[in-house]
Amino acid sequence: MKRRTLLAGSLAVAAAARPLGAMAAPERSDVIVIGAGVSGLYAAMLLAEAGASVLVLEATQRPGGRVYTADHFDGRPELGASQIGPMYARVRDVARQLGVELAPGANINAPYSFIIDGRLISAQEWADSDLNQTVGDEREALPHTLSGMYVERRSPFRSLTDWLSPEARQYDISLYQWLKQQGASDAAIQLIDDGLVDPGVHGVSVLTQLQEATRSALEVQAATAQLGEDMDVFERFARTSSRIVGGSSRYTEAMAERLGDRVRFGKAVAAVDADGSGCEVTCADGSRYRSDYVVSAVPFSVLRNIRLRPLLSGAQGEAVAVMPYGRQSQVFMRVKKPYWEDDGFDASMWSTGPITLIRQQIDPDGSRTQLVALGIGRKGTVLDRLPPKERGQFVLDHLAEIRPSTKGKLEVTGVFSWEEEAFVHGCRHSYRPGQVGKYAEAMIKPHGRIHFAGEHTRRLDVGMEAAMESGERVAFEILERVMA
Ligand SMILES: Cc1cc2nc3c(=O)[nH]c(=O)nc-3n(C[C@H](O)[C@H](O)[C@H](O)COP(=O)(O)OP(=O)(O)OC[C@H]3O[C@@H](n4cnc5c(N)ncnc54)[C@H](O)[C@@H]3O)c2cc1C
Repeated sequence: MKRRTLLAGSLAVAAAARPLGAMAAPERSDVIVIGAGVSGLYAAMLLAEAGASVLVLEATQRPGGRVYTADHFDGRPELGASQIGPMYARVRDVARQLGVELAPGANINAPYSFIIDGRLISAQEWADSDLNQTVGDEREALPHTLSGMYVERRSPFRSLTDWLSPEARQYDISLYQWLKQQGASDAAIQLIDDGLVDPGVHGVSVLTQLQEATRSALEVQAATAQLGEDMDVFERFARTSSRIVGGSSRYTEAMAERLGDRVRFGKAVAAVDADGSGCEVTCADGSRYRSDYVVSAVPFSVLRNIRLRPLLSGAQGEAVAVMPYGRQSQVFMRVKKPYWEDDGFDASMWSTGPITLIRQQIDPDGSRTQLVALGIGRKGTVLDRLPPKERGQFVLDHLAEIRPSTKGKLEVTGVFSWEEEAFVHGCRHSYRPGQVGKYAEAMIKPHGRIHFAGEHTRRLDVGMEAAMESGERVAFEILERVMA
């Protein structure tokens, strides 16, 4: 409380020192935040609490960014974040402050069967199947757990910050190289490449995966202490996570509501001009705003389309220009009849075919009426080449061919692609091999009066919690400058 009062006082002094002429139009604030995702909203809340005048400019008509409940689809599925991990201290604290209700259990899915080379097989058949070309211990691991076997269980990191140490650079290699070093078979590597890795085993640095694995090991440890080892590890995690009652969007709506008219919608920032005296932000609709500091809380995939003056340079400029973003195309379906009862295979499917996952969600009330097909990475891009109306039919036809029991029992309720979202352009950042060493430190450094937040600037946390971690970091960066 004391620190807050002190910071508020410092901002007031800084504001009083401003020349009178600066009070004239365009609209002026201490800090402009670009983007009303979790990171931008949290940074704005902290700055406002410390006494700063803050304005959040959001390109779309809703807060949340990658927190997006599809209230307009049957079953109101989550298009983005849904799972609040057990270690999400900031997310949980803000939920409590804002009176947003959390409930236990999130992303609980029906168990998986597998589509390998166009053939449907059960988890029980996998170890001895002729489709299983893996070797040794790998044969017992289900295809979607192979990555965990080689990355999660073999992470050399003990602490969450190890990934940024100079010694960690030896792991800034491709996931492919790491798997080879660990003795993975070509068949196992192929299956891992077919899964959730984007941009593929050659295109992604294993270093951040090893750090995230260290983090999830802690969460799994806690989940295991609670639920024992019998349950599948994904289910243990799902059951010890939480969800936001009424949908994840209720969370970011409550954050925006707390900020009131300090959040402006339909304001796509097109340019930021910063010099020694302050910043001028210009939106695509021609409106202009002035501030002492700017927080960029947009992904690099869109920041690269915003004109910054002075230009970003060196590793930072390069990171913004080239950092890869994951692709994910989604087709939502309603289950009219339980197809799994007809053929006895588990309802969810992991596939080496054109769709990465077909996931059946088990709702909190136990109902099993929602299904989502996910095309991840290049499979997502291929799915997106079809016009939206044809994507659903493609998924239905594909499933009917591989798994005839689904025929006539599924109905498409909506399609969505994160790559097609103009103001996100992808679902999450990743680093290519060698890029952690090159970019991770440089890319989050303030560029004059411009500071950088967003999940891509994460240090310790993941997902929404990483976005909030970054919002907190920039808020304190700015407050420390004001106090200096
Ligand atoms: C499919 C999917 C599933 C996920 N599941 C989980 C999960 O279960 N749990 C979890 O914790 N996390 C999950 N995440 C991750 C989580 O959603 C993100 O880490 C987090 O929401 C990112 O927040 P952000 O503020 O960094 O960015 P964003 O949410 O992308 O916010 C950026 C904002 O900036 C706006 N913007 C962009 N350009 C401009 C511009 N020029 N001018 C003004 N505004 C602009 C955008 O419209 C957007 O509102 C998931 C993400 C996806 C895509």
